Amino acid sequence: MADEVAPRDIVWIDPSRAAEASGDDLFEFAPGAPLVTAPVLAKDAPVLSLPRAFIERLRTVKCYRSPEMWRVAYELLWRIVRGERDLLSDPLDPDVVAFQRMEKAIRRDAHKMHAFVRFRRIDDETARNGERFIAWYEPTHLIVEREAAFFQRRFPSMDWSILSPDRCSHFDGDKVSFSAGVDRSAAPTEDELEDLWCLYYASIFNPARVKLKAMTAEMPKKFWHTLPETAQIPELLADVPRRLEEMAKNSRRMADSAMPFIPHGAPVDELRAALSGCEGCELFKNHTRPVLSEGQESATLALLGEQPGDAEEREGRPFIGPAGQVLQRALSQAGLVREDLYLTNAVKHFRHEMQLRPGERGKRRLHKRPTIEHVSRCQPWLDAEMFRVKPSALVCLGVTASRAVFGPTFRALKPDEPAEPKTSRYAKATLTTFHPAAILRASSPELAQAMEDHLVDTLRRAALSA
Ligand code: URA
Repeated sequence: MADEVAPRDIVWIDPSRAAEASGDDLFEFAPGAPLVTAPVLAKDAPVLSLPRAFIERLRTVKCYRSPEMWRVAYELLWRIVRGERDLLSDPLDPDVVAFQRMEKAIRRDAHKMHAFVRFRRIDDETARNGERFIAWYEPTHLIVEREAAFFQRRFPSMDWSILSPDRCSHFDGDKVSFSAGVDRSAAPTEDELEDLWCLYYASIFNPARVKLKAMTAEMPKKFWHTLPETAQIPELLADVPRRLEEMAKNSRRMADSAMPFIPHGAPVDELRAALSGCEGCELFKNHTRPVLSEGQESATLALLGEQPGDAEEREGRPFIGPAGQVLQRALSQAGLVREDLYLTNAVKHFRHEMQLRPGERGKRRLHKRPTIEHVSRCQPWLDAEMFRVKPSALVCLGVTASRAVFGPTFRALKPDEPAEPKTSRYAKATLTTFHPAAILRASSPELAQAMEDHLVDTLRRAALSA
């Protein structure tokens, strides 16, 4: 900010992936070299004046485990400092939407941590009563420090440590301290405390109506003496591990975007392989194969469609059905070769409904337009692809693709308005045109021709910028 580096000139890298990016001439990472060279602030660097609420919310969002967090936070910071003081109250702005999504993910992660951290007692001569309570926990995000205050309030009379792979927190009755993350083997596996915990947990645990507040409020040690009575319900006790596992499984299912399923910074081939495990929205339940993209990472021109259709899902390749044929025709007219391009979609699963058509046997899978929620949940895949491809020019085919790039307020196109290249987060020259499937559905041959001319003209213009 001090150097006024615009968001579009910054690429944020996951340090654990930096080695892979080192081949990129944009970066000059030597192994072992510091990844981030923070500019030294000049003494007279401007003081940023920011709304207090934004700073507070940043404290939460900064725990999000992804370079995407840095991108979004910096983008918002940049715009707020440049006068958009009410930016965060715009519910349609794509970066605000992303910010809120991350905030929600952190709160959910914190909530889970409050519920699932289980302490085990160990003898520890350095601790207040010669005993320490240890928990092993792996949060999805970097929330160990943020949540330490919660456990301090909840367990003021215990000396405790929460161990995690990223960071550990410790409480000694006086203050909380932090240390580097540890390997799983550092967590103790057995002691009597766990049995007590299970008893306690079983006695109040109702998976249909989990009362986290009541549970945690009653957790202090003094209650645990009463626990042997609960052992009278052995079948309940026996069932606890299964029910806990079930709850954990369900909570894993509750991902609010594709973000946790993405190997950030990975090459496109790796992204493709990881896509089949994505459960970022409910479409993964529809038994279709997600389709990532086709083309080389080195392509300078990328095309963005809506979602794979019936044929694309079967073949696992984008744009090979009827819309793909229209696109192929347009590419030929524009003098472009499909193999030179990077072809992808805003949504990676085929959203459809089964329909029985008169005179046909069996149901057909009919295309159903993805909602803006599907687009937003799938967006991290597009971010990850574009991060690798870095096209010079990007063509958005149709409204869904255009909204994925320019936000949900993007309105329909007109055939008589030539596409103007605009800078977007993905490419310096981003152009919008008609979707080939919309051309197939046009209400008249004249309109179809005008739309196809627009498509061809836009492809030509994009090629000039690529
Ligand atoms: N329509 C799209 O938007 N993408 C495809 O891959 C196929 C049809």
